[in-house]
Amino acid sequence: MNSLVWLQRDLRLSDHAPLTQALQQSERVVVAYIHDPQQVIGEANSVWLAHSLLSLQTDMRNKGGELLMLEGSFTQQLDSLIRDYQIQQVFYHYEVGQPFVNQQQQALAVCKQHQVALKPFDQAWLNADEIVTLSGSTYAVFSPFYKNLSSQLQRVESPLGVPTGLNKTKITPITDKQKQLPPTLANLIERPWAQAMMSHWQVGEHQAWLNFSQFMVQHLSDYPEQRDFPGVAGTSKLSIPLHFGEISSRAVLHQLMAEKTRPKADLNAIDAFIRQLSWREFARYLLHHHPQLETEPFQAKFARFPWDNNAELLQAWQQGQTGFPLIDAAMRELWRTGWMHNRSRMLVASWLSKNANIDWREGQAWFAHTLIDADPANNSMGWQWVAGCGVDAAPYYRLFNPILQSEKFAGDGVYIKKWLPVLRRLPAKFIHAPWLKPNVVASYGIKPGANYPLPVLNLEHSRLQHIERVAAQKNLYISNTVEKLTL
Ligand SMILES: Cc1cc2nc3c(=O)[nH]c(=O)nc-3n(C[C@H](O)[C@H](O)[C@H](O)COP(=O)(O)OP(=O)(O)OC[C@H]3O[C@@H](n4cnc5c(N)ncnc54)[C@H](O)[C@@H]3O)c2cc1C
Repeated sequence: MNSLVWLQRDLRLSDHAPLTQALQQSERVVVAYIHDPQQVIGEANSVWLAHSLLSLQTDMRNKGGELLMLEGSFTQQLDSLIRDYQIQQVFYHYEVGQPFVNQQQQALAVCKQHQVALKPFDQAWLNADEIVTLSGSTYAVFSPFYKNLSSQLQRVESPLGVPTGLNKTKITPITDKQKQLPPTLANLIERPWAQAMMSHWQVGEHQAWLNFSQFMVQHLSDYPEQRDFPGVAGTSKLSIPLHFGEISSRAVLHQLMAEKTRPKADLNAIDAFIRQLSWREFARYLLHHHPQLETEPFQAKFARFPWDNNAELLQAWQQGQTGFPLIDAAMRELWRTGWMHNRSRMLVASWLSKNANIDWREGQAWFAHTLIDADPANNSMGWQWVAGCGVDAAPYYRLFNPILQSEKFAGDGVYIKKWLPVLRRLPAKFIHAPWLKPNVVASYGIKPGANYPLPVLNLEHSRLQHIERVAAQKNLYISNTVEKLTL
């Protein structure tokens, strides 16, 4: 029996059920990634993808195996793989979101045509169809979902080890090109910006486990207190290896559950971290049940929301030129490193969708283009949550105030100075709103409007305008308290 293991976002050897099963059931196993340039998430994401594929190929070769990489129309490439290698079964991990769903549908059609069995495996902690309310409906609020999920964690399957028999994957490819990085990806990683971005990171399964182990030892116990500060290395940065499947979320969960049984384990910190990981499970669960969430608001009342079409504000936001230092620092960190802290993601998303009143889908698209971890499920849930139109969304009147948030979460100014070196001489107390003290900041070489932008919008005016629009949409009465609320 010849089998194909078709890879999507599962670029690892350990805890890989399709690979393990294929090796057990077949004499010959082709392991392949098909890169369809028409079906990609974004450029930063593709750069990591390329490095991660090379890393996996090295790991496979070290175990006596081989990884094939093909480029072109997904349907045509899968069709040729099945014919050229006389494939009888195709094993893969099911994924939510575009472009994966598209390719899964195409795979189904191709396999049907060839009468080849297509065998999907799930990477979620638990089957999304089994997590339901008492009345059998699906959850649309995180807390009860989490309560249900966390009561069943013992049911999450134990992770598999690296399978034996990887030498069955060492086949002679039809052409040597199939052993090389697809041309589009090979060109992409040569670009100077891509090389600069990758200088911040190390890729691959082994590195992912190393980083996670270090996080557990050095930062986990401080996680509940430190996880909200963008300038502190207080979070795991697991979002990238989890997105690419370099590390399996089930294996991470089991590691954390094992950690809980150790004497003097910091249960509070471990639970806080599992709770955050559960948000990821929730996002995948939501997209599984509501595939339209990538493009449509969960709350129907937002379907015709009067967003502003303001190209200038959108560009100022994208380029980190809004005049609000924390927003600009975060957007520049994103541009340079392909990653952004969760607090910063919430703040920049609130600024764009609520203060600038720009459609959340513009922000989602920019994140998809620039984030390495750009993930259909987390990205759409995050944007809809902040914009107030998603499940469990932030209340419509809750606009983050970027100045107060900056004082609270980046108070010492170090994070801002790192990404906005023009402000490096400013004492921390002036850095959060430099335009308010033009004479003082001038003595430190800052000229708002000249070498650093003046704010491109009025916070208070934009805040009121936004809540009035949402209230009108929802037929709500705005009380004085709401008008004064600021966070
Ligand atoms: C507007 C917006 C867009 C976002 N887009 C993405 C995206 O495209 N890809 C992505 O992976 N995450 C996204 N997030 C979620 C979150 O910001 C990142 O997962 C997190 O910042 C990654 O850093 P970390 O791994 O150090 O997190 P940690 O704090 O160490 O958390 C551990 C893991 O838990 C999961 N997690 C934590 N917080 C969240 C959350 N709010 N939602 C879902 N999962 C979470 C992630 O897998 C993360 O790696 C978005 C959030 C917002 C507000």
